[in-house]
Amino acid sequence: MPFKSHFLFLSMAFWDRKIETLPRKELEELQLKRLRDTVSRCRRSIFYKNRLTDIEETGFTKVEDIEAIPFTTKNDLRTNYDYGLVCVPREDIIRLHASSGTTGKATVIFHSRHDIDAWTDLLARCIAMTGARKGDVFQNMISYGLFTGGLGFHYGAERVGMMVIPSGIGNTKRQIQLMKDFHTSVFHATPSYALHVSEEMVMEGFDPKEFDLRIGFVGAEPHSEQTRKKIENIYDMNVFNSYGMSELNGPGVAFECEEKNGMHFWEDNYILEVINPKTCERLGPGEEGELVVTTINRQAMPILRYRTGDLAKIIDDKCPCGRTHVKISRIKGRCDDMMIVRGVNVYPSQIEDILMAFPEVATNYQIHLERDGALDAFIVKAELYPKMFDGDLNKLKKLEGEIAKAIADEVVVRPKIQFLEPGTLPRTEGKAIRVVDKRGEM
Ligand code: ADP
Ligand code: ZN
Repeated sequence: MPFKSHFLFLSMAFWDRKIETLPRKELEELQLKRLRDTVSRCRRSIFYKNRLTDIEETGFTKVEDIEAIPFTTKNDLRTNYDYGLVCVPREDIIRLHASSGTTGKATVIFHSRHDIDAWTDLLARCIAMTGARKGDVFQNMISYGLFTGGLGFHYGAERVGMMVIPSGIGNTKRQIQLMKDFHTSVFHATPSYALHVSEEMVMEGFDPKEFDLRIGFVGAEPHSEQTRKKIENIYDMNVFNSYGMSELNGPGVAFECEEKNGMHFWEDNYILEVINPKTCERLGPGEEGELVVTTINRQAMPILRYRTGDLAKIIDDKCPCGRTHVKISRIKGRCDDMMIVRGVNVYPSQIEDILMAFPEVATNYQIHLERDGALDAFIVKAELYPKMFDGDLNKLKKLEGEIAKAIADEVVVRPKIQFLEPGTLPRTEGKAIRVVDKRGEM
């Protein structure tokens, strides 16, 4: 095993073995019961009271009966701002969160004590599943505040018993200092920030492998398998994919187990459907589509059949880890991340996967789309490691050709490649900006 943490796999822990390995039949019975209860509860909200007049949840006999319920969209959440979806008296709400507003106005979500407790438990499950445990030092390098990533992991990590350093995102020098001084063994970050920290370490003369880090949780933005491998190799640690969104609590919706082959979707708390985003037709395992999710263990603000906008597929296999909850693939991106370049559909994650497989490519990249007469100019800007800029232009030319070809083989359109020195592209705190589309401006 290549990573420092390998010995911990021997003690891989279940947080709640009974629920995590519940036989499918019992899991589905639990889902059905919770679904009926959730629909009844939803009727207490102004929004769902009208929406659900034709639904008779008492007659539901199987989980698939959920299909009778209309979808809920981000727009429903926006137009029913502020308390339109709330199902409990105002004084039973103990927390407000909001999405980061990547695709427009932020939406607010409310939680009761039960909700925070159940969410914390989900995070504890995710964390324990990776081998992180009491005694670990956990540095939470992600935004706190309205964004759910910070507090969600914070509570979960404390419940597991790790020593939490709530460092938040940014102030990278201090992050490194804390890691060194307190022997951080587990961190949570966006993949782009995890890479950024490693660059800063090198700039300060450290080798990222020499830190005590052994487990990383990365999420909140799309990233490829190659990016995970890059982070694992740079730090010599195990990295796990973490998926969630504020409308569904935040992190803790789906998470990778030690198999690192898909994320277990916690079906005792959520009902998952995958649909064709255009026709809304239900898709089967292995078919890629939009995730539609119903919360079935939430009191203050349950959401029915929420159109997440995220694209992925169900992985139809029995996981060797013993958990029975369904697994989903890596998130390909949001439906609206798709770029149409010269008539071809391209996702940033496809480009990223190719770039990160080239060892010469450093940690940051950006895709630029511009108008070039009647055509789209498709430019991929990639930072290279400094050793590539030794004056050998032939080497650069050759690499440029190889990358352009690899991308054209995957997505059909051939990009122009621009190489940059590390640190040239803008760094964002929070979610990385991967696409700059200026075609509308010209
Ligand atoms: P916003 O929708 O404003 O960005 P959130 O902060 O709640 O609000 O972010 C949730 C979104 O982040 C998800 O819908 C998804 O698009 C993205 N996301 C979260 N985790 C992952 C992940 N592991 N892989 C890919 N995308 C992710
Ligand atoms: Zn598993």
